[in-house]
Amino acid sequence: MVYVRQSTPQQVIDHGESTRLQYGLTARAVELGWAPSRVLVIDEDLGHSASGLDARPGFARLVSEVGLDHVGLVLGVEMSRLARSGREWHQLLELCALSSTLLADPHGVYDPTDHNDRLLLGLKGTISEAELWLIKQRMWSGRIAKAQRGELAVPVPVGYVRRPGGEVVLDPDEQVRAVVRLVFELFDEVDTVNGVLRYLADNGIQMGVRIRQGPERGELSWRRPSRVGLQNMLRNPAYAGVYVYGRSRLDPRRRQPGRPHTGRVRQARADWQVWIPDRLPAYVSLDRYEQNLQRMETNRARAESMGAVRDGPALLAGLIFCGRCHTRMTVRYQRGPGGRLHPIYVCSRDKTDYGGAGCQQLAGGCVDGHVRQLLLAALAPAALEVSLAAAEQITARRAEMERIWVQRLERADYTVDRARRQYQLAEPENRLVVRQLERDWEQAMAERQRLGEEHDRFLAARPRLLSDAERAQIRAVAADIPALWHADTTTDSDRKHLVRCLIERVELTVLGDSERVHARITWSGGHHSDTELIRPVARLTQLSYYPQLTDRIRELAAAGNSPARIAEQLNADGLRPPKRRDRFGAQGVRDLMHDLGVAIPGPPRPRPAIQLPPNQWWRADLARYLGMPDVTLYNWITRGWVTAHQHPDPPHRWIVHADPAEIDRLRALHHRPRRARPINQPAAQEGHDSNAQPQV
Ligand SMILES: [Zn+2]
Repeated sequence: MVYVRQSTPQQVIDHGESTRLQYGLTARAVELGWAPSRVLVIDEDLGHSASGLDARPGFARLVSEVGLDHVGLVLGVEMSRLARSGREWHQLLELCALSSTLLADPHGVYDPTDHNDRLLLGLKGTISEAELWLIKQRMWSGRIAKAQRGELAVPVPVGYVRRPGGEVVLDPDEQVRAVVRLVFELFDEVDTVNGVLRYLADNGIQMGVRIRQGPERGELSWRRPSRVGLQNMLRNPAYAGVYVYGRSRLDPRRRQPGRPHTGRVRQARADWQVWIPDRLPAYVSLDRYEQNLQRMETNRARAESMGAVRDGPALLAGLIFCGRCHTRMTVRYQRGPGGRLHPIYVCSRDKTDYGGAGCQQLAGGCVDGHVRQLLLAALAPAALEVSLAAAEQITARRAEMERIWVQRLERADYTVDRARRQYQLAEPENRLVVRQLERDWEQAMAERQRLGEEHDRFLAARPRLLSDAERAQIRAVAADIPALWHADTTTDSDRKHLVRCLIERVELTVLGDSERVHARITWSGGHHSDTELIRPVARLTQLSYYPQLTDRIRELAAAGNSPARIAEQLNADGLRPPKRRDRFGAQGVRDLMHDLGVAIPGPPRPRPAIQLPPNQWWRADLARYLGMPDVTLYNWITRGWVTAHQHPDPPHRWIVHADPAEIDRLRALHHRPRRARPINQPAAQEGHDSNAQPQV
């Protein structure tokens, strides 16, 4: 077996003599007595430089053939170079010894089973490994020294080209430069990489990339932008004019076989080996580069700490903190009647971390509404400024887009022109070529036409200058921020984004168990607002003014007022019922007086003279009997947890069907914690059809 290899294609060309010498070994094998038909040349590895068996199929084949005992002699130039590492070399020696295979180079023939030969071969392997290391080391320090002078040619990013002399200059193509500048400007404006990407994608803007390899090397190729690409751009200090080397390092463990560019790991900035400012022409200043890095870092940290802006309607999800434990409160959604989602902010730290009872929870709607009002009030003074800036920004952006369009059209014109000239220069006799050139010309013209039409459409949709009507619209919209906030086109995620620009956190503390909630809002920049908001509570007794309320009712009742009159007076006093209702009504006051044991003045309330059959209850009566809020029972009826029907006569009061067993079930359900209740508990069937007409 003759093993032939040179590591790089360049070596194959430069060291033709050596290659010839290696093939010449075939003759030596014949000289040594092998029949020419039995001499096998393995040269699959010519031009492969990677170390490791997987990258060198020829060597792997050699090893397996030796292992199968098919081989009598292995020939090669500088045998120990066969293998690129000591391990491979010794493995081959071991196998050769086992199968009594000989090894030979131009200087001699060795028998690995012979102790002296084995020792010599081992030494040769060790020496060549040391040599290899020295060569690598020399190359490496040469590279570093060159890099430290800023002369090592590293690949340049989009927007730069390297002249044949090695000098790095801005890309001569105006459009390429315009797009690079646009990326940096957009990032200043929209602040997120995704925002920049969306803008570029929406406007069909592509990045001009110089092809690095192959026959088209150095040519421009237009590619659609990617998030990773944009991130790399913003992170690359080359755009600030800095020559850097050693931003990444090769990690052999991460290499994937067959993919030569894998396994690179980004280095921490402190580990970069070379940093030479003012070496390249810059697109941005060094300060701006640092700012961009910082902003990307902030975005990342914010995304992590706030939780991403999700699509649920809870405006402040992730921003709400518990004033008692100072941990973040989570959002739960409850599906209300009509399928609407109602957010609830819950502090479950005590529960999840310590298995205790929940700390505090409150309906999200009241918090969101309160914060929204504060936010809109804070935004109002900026309205005019915003409108002016918005108009200016839109005009500037459109001018920029137009410039890029003009460049695209010019490029297309040039392509058409070149195709035409090529066609005209061709010799008419050469029909094959002429036909192809004609097709190219037609294609270029069609492309130019398409681009022109697209440009017309672009202009029609977005004229270069803002019309007066558009200006007026911007001004009107910006001046009425609440309308903008509530507009149908403003999505929940837009609103959340806006909130997150201005508010860092909201810390909530429910005062006792009452309806009063203290809210401390931390605005961006660190300023605090301490405010108070009212949350809906389930029971009257939770209200902070409950004693005041009952005193007032007793007082008014003692003065001989009717329940309706008392309700009016309570509303006039500014007292409010719990839950989401705004005003007291006569019925509510009547129930309350009943609970308080206050005699209801005036003529006794006409009781409906309807006797219900056994096991049927008026809703309010059953609720009182079970000791639960009437509203909750009503809620259960709407969810279908209990069997009930409405009385056919006005005021259509609810009649609940409940035998003693059902009453026990309902009582148990009421005492069960809210979370343990069924999502949809079917009403127990009590032997009669719930659709049957009630016997009144
Ligand atoms: Zn808490």
